[in-house]
Amino acid sequence: MPDYSEYKGVWVFCEQRDGELMNTDFELVSEARKLADDLGTEVCGILLGDDVKGLASELGGYGADAVKVCESPLLKDYTTDGYTKVICDLVDKYKPEVFIIGATTIGRDLGPRLAARLHTGLTADATHLDIDTEKYLDYLRSESNLDLEKMKFDMEDRNLKMTRPAFGGHLMATIICPRFRPQMSTVRPGVMQKSEFDAAKAEACRIEVEDFELSADDIKVEVVSIEKAAKKLVDLIGANVIVSVGRGISKDVEGGLKLAEELADALGGVVGASRACVDAGWISADHQVGQTGKTVHPKIYVALGISGAIQHVAGMSDSEFIIAVNNNASAPIFEVADYGIVGDLFKIGPELLKEIEAVKAAK
Ligand SMILES: Cc1cc2nc3c(=O)[nH]c(=O)nc-3n(C[C@H](O)[C@H](O)[C@H](O)COP(=O)(O)OP(=O)(O)OC[C@H]3O[C@@H](n4cnc5c(N)ncnc54)[C@H](O)[C@@H]3O)c2cc1C
Repeated sequence: MPDYSEYKGVWVFCEQRDGELMNTDFELVSEARKLADDLGTEVCGILLGDDVKGLASELGGYGADAVKVCESPLLKDYTTDGYTKVICDLVDKYKPEVFIIGATTIGRDLGPRLAARLHTGLTADATHLDIDTEKYLDYLRSESNLDLEKMKFDMEDRNLKMTRPAFGGHLMATIICPRFRPQMSTVRPGVMQKSEFDAAKAEACRIEVEDFELSADDIKVEVVSIEKAAKKLVDLIGANVIVSVGRGISKDVEGGLKLAEELADALGGVVGASRACVDAGWISADHQVGQTGKTVHPKIYVALGISGAIQHVAGMSDSEFIIAVNNNASAPIFEVADYGIVGDLFKIGPELLKEIEAVKAAK
């Protein structure tokens, strides 16, 4: 086994867009803090952009001991070549033990390129991370039906255990990278818990502006312009209430979507959907909840005409209160629902709306 003792620290790629940090950065830094505490090492944020130094200390408030900042007009907008070159040079110089990246559109592009260039492995789209074997066993005890008594675990193992859904979400696979460093993973946005912001820690965070070499010739693409979707994307991850529709609206798609919007408006929430609706082209992909969509934890999740396939439930089962409407009493969604209504959503939905409006009017 190679000697990796010179590799130290847990790094987090902190993505900024238009000079703003992403919520995923705070989730990942919070998670990195726990991993670094188990390893007895530091958390370091990696922040690239143009004139972004001012963003760095906020990352300290979520647990970063230091943030390495690389600034250049060439790094203003993300490019695979530019970001890969600068980050690989930093990794070669400082040798982090663990490097995690949000599984955003940019992170999913950057992670594999970095891993290939650094000649290490990458677990894509992890939903759970552990260093400490005892904590990993606790996770297995609560989330799996494995007979742990019959299995052998190395309690001294300090490898990063990266868990992600596999085989269409039917099983969870834990992946380790014992022979290469850094141990890399992209991490699904919305899954890791953001810790409380600590102003004193933000103040104490070291901001290290790095020198690096990058020329226009290193970047093979030129970002000519960035066209944003005219429509604002729905913020499922930050929503307190989500009213989601499934294939159950198929007999009147327009009416079903309108009903969901009315219910969401009445409850101060947003509309989500199962993948079946997205695949059918009834609603845009930013609304999709589930394994290949968003992982959400609202206070209230209403599922209208959703069967409760494992891949959908993977994205919403942590909701505080789940209300399901389905005309099939044996639909699996009722197994995770706190409140289940068996019936036609086109009949139940308007009744619910009437009740909500009445309660609001009475206040
Ligand atoms: C690798 C992989 C990843 C996936 N990722 C996701 C994901 O991220 N998110 C996701 O949602 N799915 C995902 N899927 C798809 C998933 O397996 C299911 O196919 C999908 O969730 C089904 O959507 P649905 O519940 O809307 O449709 P269906 O399973 O067809 O269920 C429709 C439900 O509506 C009910 N219904 C019908 N009419 C009415 C009515 N009038 N009133 C009330 N109820 C009614 C039916 O009883 C049924 O239970 C993934 C699949 C794979 C293989």
